[in-house]
Amino acid sequence: MHTPAVPDTLTAFAEAKLADLEAQSLRRRLTPTRRIDGLWVERGGRRLLSFSCNDYLNLSHHPAVKAAAAGAIGAHGVGAGASRLVTGDTPLFAELEARLAALKGHEAACVFGSGYLANSGIIPTVLRPGDLILVDELAHACIWAGAQLSGAKVAAFRHNDMADLAAQLAAHRAAAAHALVATDGVFSMDGDLAPLDAISALARAHDAWLLVDDAHGLGVVGASGRGSAALFPGAKVDLAMGTLSKALGGYGAYVCASGPVIDLVRTRARSFIYTTGLPPANVAGAIAALDIIAAEPERVAAPLARARRFTRALNLAEAQSAVVPIVLGEAARTLAAARALEDQGFLAVAIRPPTVPAGTARLRVAFTAGHSEDQVDRLAEAVRPLMAAA
Ligand SMILES: *Cc1c(COP(=O)(O)O)cnc(C)c1O
Repeated sequence: MHTPAVPDTLTAFAEAKLADLEAQSLRRRLTPTRRIDGLWVERGGRRLLSFSCNDYLNLSHHPAVKAAAAGAIGAHGVGAGASRLVTGDTPLFAELEARLAALKGHEAACVFGSGYLANSGIIPTVLRPGDLILVDELAHACIWAGAQLSGAKVAAFRHNDMADLAAQLAAHRAAAAHALVATDGVFSMDGDLAPLDAISALARAHDAWLLVDDAHGLGVVGASGRGSAALFPGAKVDLAMGTLSKALGGYGAYVCASGPVIDLVRTRARSFIYTTGLPPANVAGAIAALDIIAAEPERVAAPLARARRFTRALNLAEAQSAVVPIVLGEAARTLAAARALEDQGFLAVAIRPPTVPAGTARLRVAFTAGHSEDQVDRLAEAVRPLMAAA
């Protein structure tokens, strides 16, 4: 090992960048966090009640899900061994994909390694240069990544603004061979719903396809936890994407669509072809999680009920999902608020730009089935003074 006396240019570049980000309260740091169960975490020697996990149904630590994952390790080993198209397609995938397709009401499903991989692969599978993609401005980063990778013309429409979407379709659709509208079903940092009936109607009127990323909808909203499209029965979603990593408690993602679309995805999506299949334990865990979702409607209903109790207590707009944003504005103020909550035993992580637009740093509070009403009330009392102090 030798340490150069003068940093090389790359290291100097990184140091300058970090100093700049630090000055804007935008530097990010990892905090080792031991998740004790689906609710409590240990950080820096302290036990905190988490309102920052996306484990909405607390299935990451559910005995039946853990047993299914452990059983799959015993039967199939810890890794897939190769891409699913080579030897990595454990038979568990077919079972999981059939279950997901049935739950979402589509012909077929394809499971990916993660949500980020899914959107990075699906969008370039259906779009190429000369095509058009219109994306809600608050849609998840991996939709933007997929849009960029496709080479299609990318345009943002204002958040949930149907007049703007209509105007953009009118302006750009005719020049494109194919068009796709892409949105989150439940917005990850705001917890609100996309008006999928209106979006779907506009997309159809302009012969555009519709992709909905329902990472935060599955298992939480819609009848039987089917997700946000179930709240808008008239909506036609061509590509129903979601993840296994939030309410299902594990890791991985899926897209549901017609049989031919899924066959095309399996044949052409680069983030499906050129990557190792999910470990069998994740696939088995997701199947067990779906079993629990089907068997326990009270569990599925609980996160939204907790979130609504919280928004009522603080006079906020009624929660539409398990996610409630408490927008505080500046990053520094939001970090201070998160620290104040931590001192009272609550973990509610500050979310800063560029994850959210500048000036809208926030505490993002996520409710789970395991939070008691008393815990929700105590969090509300702790948050109240932080909202008032400017
Ligand atoms: C979390 C999330 C993703 C990414 O999923 P991963 O499986 O964590 O990669 C994609 N879209 C949305 C809306 C998300 O919230």
